[in-house]
Amino acid sequence: MSDHRRSDHQMSDHQENLLKIVDALQSEMIDFTRELVAIPSENPPGNEYARCAEAIAQKLKQIGLEPRVIEVPAPIPGERPGYCVTACHGEGERALYFHGHYDVVPHSVEGQFDPVVRQSNLFGRGSSDMKGGLASMVFAVHALRRARTRLNGRVELVVVPDEETGGGRGSAWLSRSADFGKGGIGMMTAEPTSGVIWNANRGAISLRITVNGKPAHVGLSCQGVNAFERMLIIARELEKLKCEIEKRETGFPIRPRAARRSILMMGGECRGGSNFNLVPGTCSFTVDRRINPEEDAETEKRRLLDILDRLRRDGIDHEVEILQEGSSSGVPEEHPFARRLAGTVESVTGKRAPFEMCPGLLETRFYAERGIPAFAYGPGILAVSHGPKEFVPIQNIRDCAAVYAMVAQAALAE
Ligand SMILES: [Zn+2]
Repeated sequence: MSDHRRSDHQMSDHQENLLKIVDALQSEMIDFTRELVAIPSENPPGNEYARCAEAIAQKLKQIGLEPRVIEVPAPIPGERPGYCVTACHGEGERALYFHGHYDVVPHSVEGQFDPVVRQSNLFGRGSSDMKGGLASMVFAVHALRRARTRLNGRVELVVVPDEETGGGRGSAWLSRSADFGKGGIGMMTAEPTSGVIWNANRGAISLRITVNGKPAHVGLSCQGVNAFERMLIIARELEKLKCEIEKRETGFPIRPRAARRSILMMGGECRGGSNFNLVPGTCSFTVDRRINPEEDAETEKRRLLDILDRLRRDGIDHEVEILQEGSSSGVPEEHPFARRLAGTVESVTGKRAPFEMCPGLLETRFYAERGIPAFAYGPGILAVSHGPKEFVPIQNIRDCAAVYAMVAQAALAE
């Protein structure tokens, strides 16, 4: 770290010491990121979960922890199980959660599981979202152990698969346990936030609506019931709701300004009919309702489903399948944990970290539901995540490890 980067923010001796240790561990940290990227833990369908969990558990053992690998049965019979890895450093009631996921979206070009370092970046699927961040979290704990920092509480590492598909074999399953989030004073997840801190996320309820009609030849369409036309009736009613909820804006910052509006999107997936000369017997379309943190998820879900129930009573025969559901969450910027995280980021990187609302769903929601202040801040870059040229800046992996370690040291010192 060059002097100008920390000139404005004087570090304590403890922090300086942690930083030195993190720097000494940097090449090991990058090697571990490469090791993880080379394991194609693609989701869907959930490849190589056992191997990836084992690699993480091995590393945790090497740094002196006693990891638990928890086998999670697949919610869909016949699918492979998931494996969560947890480990604890320190002891006591209070817990700071370091949370991450090791599943990655499927590769989009060949060779993405052969990690390469070019200039100061590490390329490969999952490098940004979020295996680089996992390495930062693991090595933050490593640094805390090496520094022999006394903590009033514990750092709990929770590493899961299935984040990319709703958490069925990961966080959604773990969060049903009474122990989940126990004693939590804060939670950080290493999602690719591109230098900002996500202190809020939208909730979601996503549906597939399948409209039933009766097929008939066009010449005898009087004998059929047109599922497409029925679908339009439903869509028109939902459009009225859309116009209304779009007038609501979140107070949490998100760019561009228009993205602050509450969201109802129709037709992300749309299917139906079999030929131009046949009355369509079925038609289906999806509805993705994204709920701002200021809106009440239950109320919004009810409103949406009430409209559909009313239409069904009016004779528009259809079925509704809930594809995913997640609650929104948000922590004010003035919260002491938020201020501590932002201050630490600034002293490590020399740059101010603004707060923003995450545009998508976040696993912070599982902790927020239990009243734990939950944040995302990680080394990756959102714009390249999931893409063909996914990479993570190596400096960011090191910076994040320092941030996590320092936040833990300060948050668990009191
Ligand atoms: Zn992610």
